[in-house]
Amino acid sequence: MPLQVPRSLSPSKVTAFRSCPLAFRFSVIDRLPEPVSPATVKGTLVHRALERLFWYHQQGERSPSVALSELDLAFEEIKEDDEFRSLGLCEKDSDDFLDDAATLVGHYFELEDPNVARAIGIEILLEADLDGMLLRGIIDRLDLDDSGDLVIVDYKTGRAPGVTHEHGRLGPVHTYALLCERVLGRRPSKVRLLYLRDRIAIEAVPSEQSSRATGVRTAAVWSAICRACATDDFRPHVSALCGLCSFRHLCPVFGGEGPVIKNGTDGTDGTDGTDGPADLVGRACGAGLAGAEKAGGGEAGGGVTAGGEPATGGVPVSGGVPAKVSGLPAGATK
Ligand code: SF4
Repeated sequence: MPLQVPRSLSPSKVTAFRSCPLAFRFSVIDRLPEPVSPATVKGTLVHRALERLFWYHQQGERSPSVALSELDLAFEEIKEDDEFRSLGLCEKDSDDFLDDAATLVGHYFELEDPNVARAIGIEILLEADLDGMLLRGIIDRLDLDDSGDLVIVDYKTGRAPGVTHEHGRLGPVHTYALLCERVLGRRPSKVRLLYLRDRIAIEAVPSEQSSRATGVRTAAVWSAICRACATDDFRPHVSALCGLCSFRHLCPVFGGEGPVIKNGTDGTDGTDGTDGPADLVGRACGAGLAGAEKAGGGEAGGGVTAGGEPATGGVPVSGGVPAKVSGLPAGATK
């Protein structure tokens, strides 16, 4: 029986499907609840503190002590959230949790000076219709550099990837760059990933080639998802990530019962052992290629909002680029 196709695709969903189609089904199609981890909630807290730092304070006012004050305020907010409560932290663990978040915020100041950053948007939700597929993603911060070019800044609270995995971890980055290009009409000159734990900044420079490849790859993933929904065929893909998988108890590879897998129930990716996610996506390329290539240079419907709220007005980001942003951070340069 065909399954409901997701209404939209985000960089994290693309990554999830490519990592394991079955886990993607459990999470995105079946919407099974996943337990939150302290690391996830801490990431939310640190993002919120840095968001407040830029939103409420002008250039010249953004000091480490101000950031820590904002962290305390953000912590007061997050303590009321169900996700934080579900962690069940005792007082000492809660203190340690906040101390570690403060360490990450302190590390942020070793990676850049927020007083020279020209932020024009915080927590911006970008959406673009790519040939019938709604691609959406939230950008932590959008800056203008000295040349007036757009720069995407993304905070990371997990570990930085090793050199061998760096390329793979940049996939979502290029999707954000593609979204920016499609919605704002300009490709960002740079994407900066700030790994706060390791105090490492990784920069990627999007190009016409990377945008085109990202469009093709995203369309191929979308096509593969549609086909998997039509045939109810989401196959498990065993990898090191299985150790962290929230659905391991349901996975047939590890003795779980659901859902019914039409092919590849032997714990591999297919009856011949060759159909991994990459193969599934690769076979779908033909269907997605035409649309993706067309998307590479054409117009697409798109929108941008900040903070997940409805857009309320047009704001010229720079050079007349129209963007609807529901608010600008204090000190933002239009
Ligand atoms: S345990 Fe592994 S193979 Fe099974 S659903 Fe999770 S990630 Fe996929």
